[in-house]
Amino acid sequence: MRAMNLFTKLRCGLGVVNQNRLCVSRLFHSGKYQYYSGNGNQDLLDSETLHFLDVYSKYNPAPISIKHLLDHGRSAGTEDSFLFLRKEIPTRLANMIMELKLLPTDLLQQREAQQIYQDYIRSFKEMMLYEKLANSPETHAKFTDSLQNIRIRHIDTVPNMAQAVLRVNKNLRMHDGVTDTIQYFLDRLYTNRISIHMLISHFQSLHGIRNNSEGLIGTIDPQCDLLFVADQAYNAASLLCDNEYFDHPELKSRAVDTTDENSETQGRVTAVYVPAHLHHILFEVFKNAMRASCEWALRKELDTIPFIRLRIYKTDEDITLKISDRGGGMSRRTKRKIFNYMYSTATDKVSYEGIGGGSYGAGISASTLPMHGLGYGLPLSRLYARYFRGDIKVASVDGFGTDVYVYLQRLSHMAQENLPVYNYVSSSKLLATSTQVPDWTDNKERY
Ligand code: ATP
Ligand code: MG
Repeated sequence: MRAMNLFTKLRCGLGVVNQNRLCVSRLFHSGKYQYYSGNGNQDLLDSETLHFLDVYSKYNPAPISIKHLLDHGRSAGTEDSFLFLRKEIPTRLANMIMELKLLPTDLLQQREAQQIYQDYIRSFKEMMLYEKLANSPETHAKFTDSLQNIRIRHIDTVPNMAQAVLRVNKNLRMHDGVTDTIQYFLDRLYTNRISIHMLISHFQSLHGIRNNSEGLIGTIDPQCDLLFVADQAYNAASLLCDNEYFDHPELKSRAVDTTDENSETQGRVTAVYVPAHLHHILFEVFKNAMRASCEWALRKELDTIPFIRLRIYKTDEDITLKISDRGGGMSRRTKRKIFNYMYSTATDKVSYEGIGGGSYGAGISASTLPMHGLGYGLPLSRLYARYFRGDIKVASVDGFGTDVYVYLQRLSHMAQENLPVYNYVSSSKLLATSTQVPDWTDNKERY
């Protein structure tokens, strides 16, 4: 019954057509965008695909809450998952294909960006094969293979797009990171990528295609032990820190569930969450805190590296993780740039080439990752937090230290996917390339 409700709700979501969208055929056939439907992509874009793109890009993606994913995982079978995913995944792909076409020409012309664009169309076409197939075990077997193909095909989206952006402007990391328009687009592309990855991983874990840790339902842990995940993230970051600085700061952590009156149990704080996402976020935040603390200790010739403090508070609506370091903080001028992709104060900048996408997208951080220098740690972590309507905020005292606040929704029905939708507003923003040139009339806070 529950599964039925979920499916009906999600299918209804798909039926919502946004009137404000730019028509697909206009985009693909207008002179301005001729290049993208040109030689390289012509084979991919046959008339049937164009027709389906037109249809699917007019659907709104259906955001799902963690509660729904959990309820669905406990009770629904492959039939329900198939019916939902065969519509939802192409909807999310089609929405992003429309946005990719609006990118500035110099960026979209880059080899890596073309690859991403073609991968999206390939995945979309693969999904279209299931439009009319019967909801049978044979179809499910093929569908499962296709989902695996799609997961692997898009695994390098983040480093590939990072490489393309860098090629267009080699000096980005020296200055402020990417422009507002590219920032806006990257946020949407990566959220789209996270969301498709999430749906596929959840499906694969539920139906036994991927190994699942004990207690997890799909990718979700209904009793995710926050201190345990934080400890794992801290240990992973410590390994990198040891490689770079031959030592790492100590961690002092404490958790309290303020809504639990029992002093025996209030220290064990759990959340209904995707542990892989939380691990990714905390790993990045710990790396930053460790780097700041180690460099501060070196600069000030301190005997010991200042410790890092983690406080976790569970309240009626929120779960707040506060990570504090005494690594010298940052100026307000720096702080306003730290969520810009590719902004980094690390002097030894690293290349995006050869960095596996799994480390960006799957949430499990590889030990081969650099300690710092990509300029992706904070912006991507914030996307993961915002994806289920959480957030990350940073407060810093220059010359002293930094506090990072990671917010998660306590209530699993409130933790609903935050998805980009292709419509008139988003396409106008992407087309308004003038916003790439800030001037004195722009009233955005500068300091
Ligand atoms: P990477 O993507 O490899 O993590 P990065 O650490 O340089 O590279 P971010 O994690 O996005 O990139 O952080 C951006 C910048 O924010 C850092 O280069 C650093 O200048 C600043 N920063 C972040 N956290 C702290 C902190 N705890 N203390 C001082 N500065 C910080
Ligand atoms: Mg970092």
